[in-house]
Amino acid sequence: GAAKDVSDAPGRVRVAVRLRPKNAEESITDADYADCVELQPELKRLKLRKNNWDSDTYEFDELLTEFSSQKRVYEVVAKPVVESVLDGYNGTVLAYGQTGTGKTFTLGELGEEDISDRGIMVRSMEDILADICLDTDSVFVSYIQLYMETIQDLLNPANDNIPITEDPRTGEVSLPGATVVEIRDQNSFLDLLRLGEAHRFAANTKLNTESSRSHAILMIQVKRSVGGGEPSSSEDENQSVKNCDPPIVRKGKLVVVDLAGSERVHKSGSEGHTLEEAKAINLSLTALGKCINALAENSPHVPVRDSKLTRLLRDSFGGSARTSLVVTIGPSPRHRGETTSTILFGQRAM
Ligand code: ADP
Ligand code: MG
Repeated sequence: GAAKDVSDAPGRVRVAVRLRPKNAEESITDADYADCVELQPELKRLKLRKNNWDSDTYEFDELLTEFSSQKRVYEVVAKPVVESVLDGYNGTVLAYGQTGTGKTFTLGELGEEDISDRGIMVRSMEDILADICLDTDSVFVSYIQLYMETIQDLLNPANDNIPITEDPRTGEVSLPGATVVEIRDQNSFLDLLRLGEAHRFAANTKLNTESSRSHAILMIQVKRSVGGGEPSSSEDENQSVKNCDPPIVRKGKLVVVDLAGSERVHKSGSEGHTLEEAKAINLSLTALGKCINALAENSPHVPVRDSKLTRLLRDSFGGSARTSLVVTIGPSPRHRGETTSTILFGQRAM
């Protein structure tokens, strides 16, 4: 990866690793075995146990332990990205890891039972709504799923083959035909996330697949009016002449990506039509990995054209955009192989 002195260079991907607590089953089955990783959060180090006497050490930007709260995870992983989106830049938050390690909990948890469980999507919107002025600013949301290199609208299942277009002048990416909903309060955003979740479940049932095989992508566009033709304030209500300067609009886009399970990269051909599926997942995750490597190496060529996922992220990745990757892992030594390759994926971004 890149030398440490460029760690704050714009465009570099910041990488946090989050370890999920042992679940009830693992507490029984793994009771007699050491966890496959040991975190040293104050040193920002992770030790990956190879066997009883040997381990490899990796450094990351942040280590989030099994005790890290959702609030802390939001603050470390997403808050800096949300702040730059509010300043008019684009940004991306990605979760990468094996199925069952907490990608959806980290990003998409709604906290219906315990409000402190709310994940990054909900907390991001909360901060956005708190910062903007609804009289002059606006927030728009789209929610899609990328499966087998096809984009489906999670807010309207009738849109099941959405193209990606790019403005040749600005490089701005758009999805013509995807539902765009204006959000004015947190409750309507929660309703929208619930709707997307229900449609994701239904779409995957229909295709006889699982959510672990698709990427779920939430896009939040923030448009802020910064001077120019703002509406008159209450003091000058009686003024007959309006300020006619053209409004200056500052736009920032936050993209939150719950990636397909990383184990899909390795599993192939064993179940039904999974060979084609594995190839498609492989394609986008591999392309993503290559782009992340290119950013880490400060390479002038970031190969965004290789997959739909990376084409979609093109304007919210690298350059002036902030990118944050949270790599999720579990503690079980039974998944040492998968955990190792997940950690190596994250390490290549450093
Ligand atoms: P993934 O999306 O990676 O497949 P999930 O987010 O669905 O994984 O997590 C699997 C299970 O583990 C869920 O029941 C989830 O609530 C739980 N879980 C994941 N991470 C944590 C965590 N940090 N603390 C408590 N429970 C967690
Ligand atoms: Mg999930």
